[in-house]
Amino acid sequence: GTHATVLELNEIHSYYDHIHALKGISMTVGEGEIVALIGGNGAGKTTTLRTISGMMKPRTGTLTYQGQDIAGKPPHQTMQMGMSHVPEGRRIFPQLTVRENLEVGAYTITDRRLIEERVQEGFDYFPRLRERENQLGGTMSGGEQQMLAIARALMVNPKLLLLDEPSMGLSPLFVEAIFDIIQKLNREHNTTVLLVEQNANMALAIAHRAYVLQTGEMKLSGKASDIAKDESVRKAYLGDE
Ligand code: ATP
Repeated sequence: GTHATVLELNEIHSYYDHIHALKGISMTVGEGEIVALIGGNGAGKTTTLRTISGMMKPRTGTLTYQGQDIAGKPPHQTMQMGMSHVPEGRRIFPQLTVRENLEVGAYTITDRRLIEERVQEGFDYFPRLRERENQLGGTMSGGEQQMLAIARALMVNPKLLLLDEPSMGLSPLFVEAIFDIIQKLNREHNTTVLLVEQNANMALAIAHRAYVLQTGEMKLSGKASDIAKDESVRKAYLGDE
């Protein structure tokens, strides 16, 4: 392809004890791409992101990020290497204000001016957060908390953003707003995005390429627009009737 490879998984196997969650999956993500990883419940999408960011260690297979072996490197190390993982279910700090949540996201940065610059950048992307700067995270709506979780992940100016089901539980308007911002980030910042979604339609609409996972196996990959068009793929793997 035309993109330099940022991330490469080759024959990755991951387990939860005896549960074989990833059964030899391979995939690549190129610099500046939005890649969607789609599939139904329990397919292994979350496990894939957890394996990449280092919350889990793969049992076998190779995992490289910018040419470096990262299999089993803990999350704080992959973060220092430029990855940012927004886990499923948001996990913002409910007792901290919006601003404080963002500042926590910047804990690896010591330069106050840079932190403030990034906070303002986050507010530019998510004006709704600026209006709620001093509101407690826990009192924000689900969609606002998702925005906050993404804005917090952006505080380190990641090269690779791992997003786990950003649309989950959100109203269509919020889903659209979040997907617009992902696309904008990708275009304006050249942020590489690996997007895990059950909402295949939305993910395929903004992704360049996609991978389809089913019960721990990679079933197919291709241009997102081709996968979106393919009725048989949708029926077989995406739960469409
Ligand atoms: P969903 O869209 O439903 O969140 P997913 O594609 O993200 O699904 P995973 O959460 O990665 O799927 O789960 C893959 C498999 O691993 C499933 O069979 C699941 O039951 C199992 N699994 C996930 N987390 C654990 C865990 N903490 N302990 C044991 N098994 C787990």
